[in-house]
Amino acid sequence: MKLAGCRVLALLVFTAPCILAQSSAQAASQTVFGYGNFSAQAKIEEKFLAVPDANLAGQHLKTLTAEPHMAATPEDHKTAEYVAQKFRAAGLDTEIVPYRVLMNQPKTVRVEAYDPSGHLLMSGPAPEHIDGDPGQDNPRVVMPFNGSSGSGNVTGEVVYANYGRLEDFNQLAAQHIDLHGKIALIRYGINFRGVKVYLAEQRGAIGVLLYSDPQDDGYFKGDAYPIGPWRPETAVQRGSVQFLFKYSGDPETPGVPSTLDLPDSARIHDYVGLHGDLPSIISIPISYHDAAPILRALKGAAVPQGWQGALPFSYHVGPGGVGVHLISDQDYQRRIIWNVVGTVKGSTYPDELVVAGNHRDAWVYGAVDPSSGTAAMLEAVHGVGALLKQGWRPKRTIMFCSWDAEEEGLIGSTEWVEQHGNELQNAVAYFNVDVAVAGSDFGASAVPSLKEFVRDITRAVPSPLGGTVYQQWKLRQPAGNKSTSSTVPGDDVHMGDMGSGSDFTPFLQHAGVPSTDIGSGGPYGVYHSTFDDYQWYTANADPHFEYLQEMARVLGLETLRMADADLLPLDYAVYAHEVSGYISEARRKAVDAGMSSLDFTPAEAAAARFSSAAQKTRAR
Ligand SMILES: [Zn+2]
Repeated sequence: MKLAGCRVLALLVFTAPCILAQSSAQAASQTVFGYGNFSAQAKIEEKFLAVPDANLAGQHLKTLTAEPHMAATPEDHKTAEYVAQKFRAAGLDTEIVPYRVLMNQPKTVRVEAYDPSGHLLMSGPAPEHIDGDPGQDNPRVVMPFNGSSGSGNVTGEVVYANYGRLEDFNQLAAQHIDLHGKIALIRYGINFRGVKVYLAEQRGAIGVLLYSDPQDDGYFKGDAYPIGPWRPETAVQRGSVQFLFKYSGDPETPGVPSTLDLPDSARIHDYVGLHGDLPSIISIPISYHDAAPILRALKGAAVPQGWQGALPFSYHVGPGGVGVHLISDQDYQRRIIWNVVGTVKGSTYPDELVVAGNHRDAWVYGAVDPSSGTAAMLEAVHGVGALLKQGWRPKRTIMFCSWDAEEEGLIGSTEWVEQHGNELQNAVAYFNVDVAVAGSDFGASAVPSLKEFVRDITRAVPSPLGGTVYQQWKLRQPAGNKSTSSTVPGDDVHMGDMGSGSDFTPFLQHAGVPSTDIGSGGPYGVYHSTFDDYQWYTANADPHFEYLQEMARVLGLETLRMADADLLPLDYAVYAHEVSGYISEARRKAVDAGMSSLDFTPAEAAAARFSSAAQKTRAR
């Protein structure tokens, strides 16, 4: 392959100068997809790659995580001003864009459990606490709660519903366990928490307790924080239980931007319940410290295979043995949130938009989620600023966006996409980053047309482990996890498909903009707890901020290479190949389901036409 010489060199000597060698190699090869002659762009990329700075990224992270900064709080506004200041310093045309959106903040959250004789088994929530964490006693740390939870005061028997998947609820139903009037105790993991609550409400539960089982991100995985990176006993995963699979954003304004001047008459009022966007039942997240006494006391049948977690006793499904009393008082108000948008106007195709984005709001300190993303984006912007100061202009318009209220329901990005639907018809790509750095394992997901583009970008960025990001990605991917879409030489590193749950959702699934999502992963057990802070980050994820630098380079290079391309590097040959794969899979499932008479011929013929058109386009 075109970079083979440099790859070998990089693996042997692990030196930064390979950045230069790589760019020269790419320039010499002149085969970069989307470019007729890559040599001028190679020089621009070389200059860019030299700028993102690990120490500066670490300083951004420290500043951004100095205070809890939940959406719509004064501390959140302070982070918006910090980001805006850095955007302006880089020369971006910058504005802070406010919206007024409906969100809850907790007034009271209580959980009590009793045995059948009325003896108190637990009363919580217990405060999140470990030895030696500097931020846990800050009064601005919000008590654990679920965004979009209902308010209420309910008492009921408990039923354990494993992960709260459809098959889990079906299994309970098969055992004639009725959830009407019950409280469902559900462990986090596998599916989105809003799905768990939706299904529990559908089955008649009057409340939900969501807990983190140590099997999924606690001591079963390894040492808990502060000794290791995994979830400690009292740490709680906050999070939204909005019905995101229906629509994201402000629940009162589906399809409409919640600008400050939006009249009340433009808002809907019927958004709560199974037909709407928010659950009507209450949902409370708890730690395994608080879940253990409930699970231990629970009677009824032994759990089905696969339902046992890592707490040191046998789990039962219930009901019986324990009842709980839940109080949730949620303060719903229309609150102001702030996106920050920085623009560099394109010189040749100013209407064509290349958008990169990351959310800024955090449930608490949010060192990994999302401040690592923001710190990386700020250093990418730093690199773009250095090019601007040398007189460079991108061919297409580049926008860097710092979204607010992602945690509550992708709200800032969704409202912005709703406001700019017309301009976004000309958006050529959206590059997301959220949990940018939790460790050293690079990973990415993308629409099929951008998979090879992302691989190409990672071939041009050095890894702190030596060689390129691409090489380390390839070396470290699990055996048997190879990509099946091998239409392109070198297409051998697995890349995920786009799901949902971060700010690419409105771009990809509402506006149809080709998107990618990148991150560097690792053992990360403090997700959405107070312990996702600067101390955890430097102890476990990235002590020298080298991976922030790596992610800044990858994100920045994605935007530069897309913005300057002669032809958009969207590879529909890979897309067509994946479409054929989906059709084959559907055919296989149809046969398995006894529907072998279903005729897939027209779909296959259409996929073949798509494939041949894509091959012709790519060959030009
Ligand atoms: Zn996030």
